[in-house]
Amino acid sequence: MNETQVLVFLLAVSVGAIAIGGVLIARRGGLDAERFEVPVRCRDGHVFTTVWVPGVSLKAIRLGPVRFQWCPVGEHRTFVTLVPWSRLSPEERWMAAHNHDSRVP
Ligand SMILES: [Zn+2]
Repeated sequence: MNETQVLVFLLAVSVGAIAIGGVLIARRGGLDAERFEVPVRCRDGHVFTTVWVPGVSLKAIRLGPVRFQWCPVGEHRTFVTLVPWSRLSPEERWMAAHNHDSRVP
């Protein structure tokens, strides 16, 4: 195999893997965004839920455990951090459950 044939082979394998992965995800009913939906708190104290997939973020700038993204409560761009449900007060749980940002990770 020359270099071009190797590249064509690798491209074909990559396209095939993506197609198979798409079919498997579609058969499972699509991505389960709710599984990755977690409460976060912004710097101003607003609490809301967001889709937080480790290693993936299309709507936020990741800075380790902190992300810079849109806060739908205060309608501003800010830094947010994960907050476990157990550390939220009843009022904050209500606020998180009723305020979501987009379903894009
Ligand atoms: Zn906020």
